[in-house]
Amino acid sequence: MSFSSKAKKELSCIQVDDKCCQLAELSAIFKMTGSIEIKGKNRLAVKIVTENADIIRFAFKVIKKLFNLAPVLMVRKKRKLKRSNIYILVLTPFMDSKKVLEALGILHESLQEGIHFHYGIDEFLIQKDCCKRSYLRGAFLGGGSLSDPEKTYHLEFICHNREYSRDLSKLINSFGLKSKIVERKGYFVVYLKEGEQISNLLNIIGAHSALLNMENIRVIKDVRNNINRLVNCETANMNKTIDASIRQINNINYIKDNIGLKKLSRPLQEIAELRLNYPDISLKELGEMLVPPISKSGVNHRLRKIEQIANKIRLMKGENKSV
Ligand SMILES: [Zn+2]
Repeated sequence: MSFSSKAKKELSCIQVDDKCCQLAELSAIFKMTGSIEIKGKNRLAVKIVTENADIIRFAFKVIKKLFNLAPVLMVRKKRKLKRSNIYILVLTPFMDSKKVLEALGILHESLQEGIHFHYGIDEFLIQKDCCKRSYLRGAFLGGGSLSDPEKTYHLEFICHNREYSRDLSKLINSFGLKSKIVERKGYFVVYLKEGEQISNLLNIIGAHSALLNMENIRVIKDVRNNINRLVNCETANMNKTIDASIRQINNINYIKDNIGLKKLSRPLQEIAELRLNYPDISLKELGEMLVPPISKSGVNHRLRKIEQIANKIRLMKGENKSV
């Protein structure tokens, strides 16, 4: 199961008992997955279409309890690809679906204007904090998705119109988040990008297991990044040491080939021979191998002298200095 489906499964198990919150959640689900057909004068057919059986179960229960209606349920097989099930909930034109849509803040009817649809989020649904959270939970169940945090941090809601995407983004941002909107293939996508913002949203809608899993992955990713940074740092230092060693060995071999190491003073000759025998150890370790041992800066001092001598010979022979 994908990270997104797991989060949705968790959300569908949340028991919502308050009528205010049930209405808010159902309204959001309807905005995301519902459609309305006008069938003749004043008759409406209302449908919710989704691949998520939990959504249909919730909608059926709430419509039955709050409006005393029994919607028609259908299951179809998807024609293409995985042939997964599609669940459909229908309020037929002969049911009082207007009553439901009015209560969900989707439709208003007045004598003067007749039927009028509301494309945004009706304010009366989201006056209380509990209802705001329930609304976002419904919106996520109906039209939300969450990328696998192992790969990338991305949570989005796919909305059918601009007005709705603005209201939804405003509602999310009322919790201190920074959602943005992008237009994609005729849809309006409200999205969050940062790991912390996504964690916050999961917390707001009550997806606490998903939140914990996400936090675990974030911690592991952080540690992994830190280790990579350390390794890169150490590799850089090691490369520096190796470059220096190669330069030292070039100098020593140059002296050996041109005048012979015997011409060097005893201390320089000692360190030169050690360096040739142990090309990959540090200056500190080189110093410790001498009898008596000398410090790292002592070794460095001797190797610099060797470099000066090599450069002097090069100069006399008209050759370029070592780099
Ligand atoms: Zn509420």
